[in-house]
Amino acid sequence: ISTSDIIEPQRICVCVRKRPLNKQELTKKDLDVVSVPGKGALLVHEPKQKVDLTKYLDNHIFQFDYSFNENATNDQVYNFTAKPLVQSIFEGSMATCFAYGQTGSGKTHTMGGDFTGKQQNSSKGIYALAAQDVFTNINHRRYASLDLSAFVSFFEIYNGKVYDLLNKKAKLRVLEDDRQQVNVVGLEEVYVTKAEEVIKMIQIGSACRTSGQTSANANSSRSHAILQIVLRRKKGALHGKFSLIDLAGNERGTDVSSNDRSTLVETAEINQSLLALKECIRSLGKNSDYIPFRMSTLTKVLRDSFIGEKSKTCMIAMVSPSMSSCEYTMNTLRYADRVKEL
Ligand code: ADP
Ligand code: MG
Repeated sequence: ISTSDIIEPQRICVCVRKRPLNKQELTKKDLDVVSVPGKGALLVHEPKQKVDLTKYLDNHIFQFDYSFNENATNDQVYNFTAKPLVQSIFEGSMATCFAYGQTGSGKTHTMGGDFTGKQQNSSKGIYALAAQDVFTNINHRRYASLDLSAFVSFFEIYNGKVYDLLNKKAKLRVLEDDRQQVNVVGLEEVYVTKAEEVIKMIQIGSACRTSGQTSANANSSRSHAILQIVLRRKKGALHGKFSLIDLAGNERGTDVSSNDRSTLVETAEINQSLLALKECIRSLGKNSDYIPFRMSTLTKVLRDSFIGEKSKTCMIAMVSPSMSSCEYTMNTLRYADRVKEL
């Protein structure tokens, strides 16, 4: 794959990324049951057993816009997913890019990359790569006459509540006015002039996200993290917006074993928001007038990204290759399949 293959983005693009088996899985001699034969196809070889106990593989084939195998780099994933969307916000789009999948499947690796600073370019995630392209464009003469400025916001949604990651996890209210405009009241919007400043904000926000062990949302896998890059004209008017979302782990849709009330509430909340998200993206794909954005806080705050002709979205479904994760992988792929099905 090469960058020159980039085409005008579709309204909805659904991709899948398979990560490599990790150390733990290799130690346990877990097997790789996912293969990527190419051209967007992805195969899951689900191990099954007949009544007479003979084992067999149940093969499931899925087709996506792109399927990335375990050798794909963040750069390659970026070029085929978020890069065309960065371009589109300069043309006035509201764009979203979601990382979906079970905890440990690679969502944060793909979006945030590695910020320990030990590695160089290879560790950049979609957030940082998008930020770089935003400033390349801002400084390009093609867009000079628009006189655009960039701002970033970074917040988290946990149990339906919004917390500002750029303001010490301040709890914020979501208000809808009589014109159905949704507003996150008091959300920090930081003016940025270069990619390094965006990366700095991401570092601050990510540290804030995982801090506070005693608080309920200590575990970041149970919250959605939303980074927004907003383009404004000289007088502050909104020109375009890119929302990049590291979604909460989807694995607990199948886990009903817990009898801890707060865990059950959390699970219900996550399931509801992921269901709402699927429905909103589907309405976008069908050009439907009815967008069920009120179903969850997540879809409420993203409302303006689901309306209008210029809205575009990309979902990257992350999967683990391991046999032990097969059931979760199948759930993730079925969800991604439904999102693109019209
Ligand atoms: P999630 O955010 O979905 O819970 P992470 O992004 O934290 O998952 O990934 C879990 C682990 O797997 C991390 O240690 C991460 O570095 C590693 N990992 C994920 N995807 C890849 C990949 N494509 N290549 C190499 N390592 C990966
Ligand atoms: Mg994560």
